[in-house]
Amino acid sequence: MTDPQTLRNWDNEHVWHPFAPMSAFRTEEVPIIERADGFDLIDAEGRRYLDGISSLWCNVHGHGVPKIDAAVKEQIDRMSHSTLLGLSNTPSIELAKRLVDLAPASLSKVFYSDSGSTAVEAALKIAYQYHRQKSNPEPQRDLFVCLSDAYHGDTVGSVSVGGMPLFHGIYRNMLFETLRIPAPVALHHPPELSKEAYLAWCFQEAEDVINEHADRIAGVVMEPLVQGAAGIWVHPPGYLKHLRNLTEKHGIPLIADEVAVGFGRTGTMFACEQEDVFPDLLCVAKGLSGGYLPLAATLATDEIYDAFLGEPSEGRTFFHGHTFTGNPLGCAAALANLQLFEESNLLKRIAENTERLKSRLGVLADHPHVAEVRQKGIMVGIELVANRPMLTPFPKELRMGHQVTVAARERGVIVRPLGDVIVLMPAPAMPVELIDRLVDVTIEAIDTAISQVQLSQTEGA
Ligand SMILES: *Cc1c(COP(=O)(O)O)cnc(C)c1O
Repeated sequence: MTDPQTLRNWDNEHVWHPFAPMSAFRTEEVPIIERADGFDLIDAEGRRYLDGISSLWCNVHGHGVPKIDAAVKEQIDRMSHSTLLGLSNTPSIELAKRLVDLAPASLSKVFYSDSGSTAVEAALKIAYQYHRQKSNPEPQRDLFVCLSDAYHGDTVGSVSVGGMPLFHGIYRNMLFETLRIPAPVALHHPPELSKEAYLAWCFQEAEDVINEHADRIAGVVMEPLVQGAAGIWVHPPGYLKHLRNLTEKHGIPLIADEVAVGFGRTGTMFACEQEDVFPDLLCVAKGLSGGYLPLAATLATDEIYDAFLGEPSEGRTFFHGHTFTGNPLGCAAALANLQLFEESNLLKRIAENTERLKSRLGVLADHPHVAEVRQKGIMVGIELVANRPMLTPFPKELRMGHQVTVAARERGVIVRPLGDVIVLMPAPAMPVELIDRLVDVTIEAIDTAISQVQLSQTEGA
């Protein structure tokens, strides 16, 4: 085994980390994770950390779960990979059946890929092609509607329907055109409107944009209930249903990106269930394999799928697929994940963890540097500000969100910020005692990081 210092050097010399400002990153000596055990990650030097972000929002039952481990090992002994192009394979068939049984009743077909980004990318292309091939073709439908500050992944199509200025701004000229509607979140609403008036305007604006461009719209893409990467922005009740009603009225496919919110995170298996919404396309990834292996799926209705049927020579095929589409190991992990989900009555655990997070985070309600604690199910965002009444952000150079994660790490807990929003994303199966530890350490880390900044400012003055 390579010794920790050599690993550190090689990491700095050769690994380009995602979403990382590399010049700062290389000085930070981040933990190099070597093993995992339950809800802990263990680094090359043997230090343990509680995994407070479920390995970037995908881990479901913890690490080293015997039943998932066994399922993957058994599958390895049979076959690790064979293609879905021109062939089929057992686990991908069984998983498709399972997913269709679980998903909203509108969905009956499963198209596999490898990541959330590719699941969204496939959905966009399917919707676009559908309008050109359906029985009453509408080839003029060429625009997607998406929300401000949306995040749907990092490939060019999913960035096109994304809207986070920091991540996406620089690529503006290489992206396709979209129609944007405002995310219905009111924390930073314009001063001339009340919170309620601003939200009402957001509902109206969605309606106006969709009505005005109704025959040009190929699809409406959204993250149901919660915009995760925007900073855990929780939508007001009824917004998802509102978009479903508007899209239905105009024959526009609704693409639900449940990559983050799917598999129990918001309290139900799928977020769409909470507003009785039946999407036309549904994207899942992150939690699908229990967070074990890269696997994603785009689910579709019969109505959409049928537009791709016909004589092979007609070319109505969906000409899209990846080498590892429907990978048997990923599908075996996913089947074990979903079985365990049911056996362990995980939705009940999630309901308990939701309540626990809520009560434990209550102490932040009056915190002078917390603008808002947002929570839906077991997804939490704590937005830090320099001045609470004015909602003045901390200066960017302070990297306050980052400082909090460093302070938490020193206390043995991994969290990750989105700007100055501290995100808590415990695995759904995390026991309540560990939820308590996650929250306690996070609050301590927030206070430590802020007092360190204040101290250095006093010293500098
Ligand atoms: C993470 C995420 C994606 C992208 O998934 P990857 O597997 O990282 O490509 C897409 N949509 C949402 C809502 C996400 O949270």
